[in-house]
Amino acid sequence: MHCPFCGATDTKVIDSRLVADGHQVRRRRQCIACSERYTTFETAELVMPRIIKSNGNREPFNEDKLTGGIQRALEKRPVSTDDMEKAINAIKTKIRATGEREVSSNMVGNLVMEALKELDKVAYIRFASVYHSFEDIREFGEEIARLEK
Ligand SMILES: [Zn+2]
Repeated sequence: MHCPFCGATDTKVIDSRLVADGHQVRRRRQCIACSERYTTFETAELVMPRIIKSNGNREPFNEDKLTGGIQRALEKRPVSTDDMEKAINAIKTKIRATGEREVSSNMVGNLVMEALKELDKVAYIRFASVYHSFEDIREFGEEIARLEK
C-alpha cells in the first residue's frame, strides 16, 4: 500500500504480530522513501449470513451494530477491550459456523447474551433488559436471582 505520509509504494514490514486472539495481524511498516512508520491491520474477510429481523425483513450482517450493542452494555465495566474483541469474534465465528445463508436476529441476540453472561453480569443484565424489554421490576429481579444461583 501507499505510504500515508509521502505516497511512496515501497514499504518494509518491521514487525508483525497476531492480535485479537489471532483473528488479526498487526504490522508495523516503515516507508523506504521517507522513513515514517505506520501500522496496518489485516483480517480475513469472510462472508457473514444475512440477518432475518423479527418482522421478517432481511438485512446484511452489521458488525458495527453488534459491536455497538456490546460496547453500550459494557460501558464503564471492568472488561478489557481485548476480552470484548474476543467475545465479538467468538460470536461471529458461531454465526458463521451455522453454515446458513440467513440467521435470525433472535439467534444473534442470544449469542450476545451468552457472551455477556460470561464476561460481566452487570453488562448481561443491561443488555437483557433492553433486549427482553423487561416489563417490570419483578421480571428484572427474577433474572438477577437466576444469575446468582
Ligand atoms: Zn513515505
